[in-house]
Amino acid sequence: MSHDRDTFFIGGGWAAPASTDVLEVVSPHSEQVVARVPEGTPADIDAAVAAARKAFDEGPWPRMSPEERIAVVEAFSGLYAGKLAEMADLITIEMGSPTSFANLAQSPAPWMQIESFLTIAREFPWEATRPGALGGPVVVRHEPVGVVAAIPPWNVPQFTIMSKVIPAILAGCTVVVKPAPETPLDAYLMAELLMEAGVPEGVVNIVAGGRETGEHLVSHPGVDKVAFTGSTAAGRKIAAICGEQLKRVSLELGGKSAAIVLDDADLAATIEGLKFTALMNSGQACVAQTRILASRANYDNVLDALVEGVAKMQVGDPMDPATEIGPMVAQRQQERVEKYIALGQEEGARVALGGNGMPEGLDHGWYVRPTIFADVDNRMRIAQEEIFGPVLSVIPFDDVDDAVRIANDSEYGLAGTVWTTDDKAGLDVARRVRTGTYGVNTYTMDFAAPFGGFKNSGVGREFGPEGLGQFTELKSIYTSLPAT
Ligand code: NAD
Repeated sequence: MSHDRDTFFIGGGWAAPASTDVLEVVSPHSEQVVARVPEGTPADIDAAVAAARKAFDEGPWPRMSPEERIAVVEAFSGLYAGKLAEMADLITIEMGSPTSFANLAQSPAPWMQIESFLTIAREFPWEATRPGALGGPVVVRHEPVGVVAAIPPWNVPQFTIMSKVIPAILAGCTVVVKPAPETPLDAYLMAELLMEAGVPEGVVNIVAGGRETGEHLVSHPGVDKVAFTGSTAAGRKIAAICGEQLKRVSLELGGKSAAIVLDDADLAATIEGLKFTALMNSGQACVAQTRILASRANYDNVLDALVEGVAKMQVGDPMDPATEIGPMVAQRQQERVEKYIALGQEEGARVALGGNGMPEGLDHGWYVRPTIFADVDNRMRIAQEEIFGPVLSVIPFDDVDDAVRIANDSEYGLAGTVWTTDDKAGLDVARRVRTGTYGVNTYTMDFAAPFGGFKNSGVGREFGPEGLGQFTELKSIYTSLPAT
């Protein structure tokens, strides 16, 4: 089945591109082109922003009641629920996410986000009256922020689109989505479902393209807010543009999270947990806990068990349901990970598993061998920089204070875990690590609660009422009405 497309989704329908530029979607497993779609240019972005602007300034959407918008998003959610397997497959085809992970996180989790935002929107204080401090009561309203530019990365494309588009449209905003050039296909399926659900024209517009196209969208005077997920380097650039223009901006950026294994942890359960939290999506996850911290006394036990557990993980064709680690998204990502594996050795870390070269039995595809570094000092670059692949560093600590110090010795602050049979000790550690999210013996993002980063991991929060609030402007109306 061909996944080729020749249009963008603009103004509620399929729109011809302004240029003949093409994006080739290449399978990271077969290295073959699996689809060709138009590549968005500044002219296409201009058309999409104009459609979103018109829908916001003149269309019904921002003027509808929250209940009316909720009903449309409910219809979309119902249709999305019927396409989970197709969506997961598309994402595996375009970026190589193992199907076992894709069928958990690449489409069911985005659908759960939609449902969660619907629940939040039904109870959200869109307009509330509170007693004033001076005169009459004050009416406090959440109004839509305007036209939103939503820019997701390739690693979890639908996950990072839903966390922006759904709260934005529930709030009454209109949106231009610019999918990453590696992953345009899932967004086309989403566009079909939006149309079928009856989302009015111009409320969501989709133009895939690269960095320059993204930057044109960010700087566009017709855009009121930018919601971005991606690298810290790009986030900095985007924040600078938004700062200059005083544009609202929220940024979900990189991470280098630490998993602290306390001596009383159940080792077998911890290793099972770490295999997921450290290596999900083949290590291409912002929340991946790639620094494993173990006490000096317990270091060899943790290292040996981790090496044994990871060595058994199946690496290969992402379409195989048994595969746990698939290819890297692109050849440049494979090369980047290989450079870090070489760098770790130069820095004096010891390869306890893996190393450079293709995994056994594979002769094509952008694979790397799952690699575990031992004897890592937290100041090494492999412990400080985001590698974005299946490469783990096991770092020794002296005591719990030292573990917390090492976990916090990072420019990032996105996620982390502690593994222990003592819940109280776990919560104590959780409170001391400076990250936006944390797990005790688990790491599952809960869409009812805010998600985001401290430090260089971002600005703002997604999910929960806080994530919906990022797409609203607050207005206070002072009244001289009698208090009710
Ligand atoms: P990236 O920053 O290269 O690109 C992300 C998106 O931004 C893409 O759509 C890209 O085309 C666009 N882009 C890049 N430069 C831009 C610019 N100057 N102006 C406008 N748009 C621009 O990141 P990536 O390689 O696609 O994704 C991996 C990164 O994303 C990792 O750093 C990862 O940690 C991060 N990430 C963070 C989260 C989170 O929630 N915190 C979630 C997933 C991924």
